Amino acid sequence: MTLPPLKGLLPLHPARTYPPVGRCIYCGSTAALSDEHVVPLGLGGRFVLPDASCSDCREKTSKFERTCQRTMYGPLRLLYGLPTRRKKGRPQTLRLKVKHAPDKDWEYLPVPQERYPFLITFPYLGMPGILTGLPKTAAAGAVTKRLWIRGASPSHDFHALLEKLVAELGVHSIMPEAKADVEAFCRLLAKVAYSFAVAELGGHPFESPLVGYASGGDLSHCLHYIGSREAEEPPTETLHDLAVLNGPPSAPLVVRIRLLSRLGTPTYYAVVRETTGRAYPSLKPPDTGLPVSAA
Ligand SMILES: [Zn+2]
Repeated sequence: MTLPPLKGLLPLHPARTYPPVGRCIYCGSTAALSDEHVVPLGLGGRFVLPDASCSDCREKTSKFERTCQRTMYGPLRLLYGLPTRRKKGRPQTLRLKVKHAPDKDWEYLPVPQERYPFLITFPYLGMPGILTGLPKTAAAGAVTKRLWIRGASPSHDFHALLEKLVAELGVHSIMPEAKADVEAFCRLLAKVAYSFAVAELGGHPFESPLVGYASGGDLSHCLHYIGSREAEEPPTETLHDLAVLNGPPSAPLVVRIRLLSRLGTPTYYAVVRETTGRAYPSLKPPDTGLPVSAA
């Protein structure tokens, strides 16, 4: 499946600044605090939790955020002009994988960024095990064999651009590429869900199984707490869609995440606490069909 030509179609994520936290939401340190973007700035996130991440934790979160932003969504970010802290370093050309003849090896040719066809991928993870009643030991680490994939191009229909480029470059075939780093992506989901829950529930850090994942810890069995629906979902009007879902106090506390939901991307769920613990009348009700609502 392909997306229509993309340039200029993305709406801005609304800006929201929460009250300052005053200590690191991951480790509790009060030294060298900086602002935490719930969704990274490089993906257009504008929800900010001030004074919420220490320099050590910032280094850990920056690592997987960079991987997601550059490796997985680099061409997408260039195409949409999503924010970067290093504007001058933006490449004018990108390397396209091509074959000159059926019996030749694949090689790379530079093409202008505005004519670069590429793929956007999101890993499908299955629903979090805790929401389907499975024991934690049954859950896998950050791996998947299934991806949501869309062909994307800046200025033309994706397939028309491929045909044009084959003719213009005089090659036999083109292989648009995408890289999915599922580990980095699961860490990103953990960070987004936890920091958003802290922000929305009043700015107090709390114990969460997601903190370890967001801090570079072991990802074994992480699909017990993190997962996705595997369904075609309609695009939203907004750039991203985030919500903390309100279940009964005995049910898990769940954050729903759709990054770049404007493109019709999958819905993810991350369990920030095994039990909600108290009633939060201000939160959104659980999604229909989400097992948490029956707990
Ligand atoms: Zn910290």
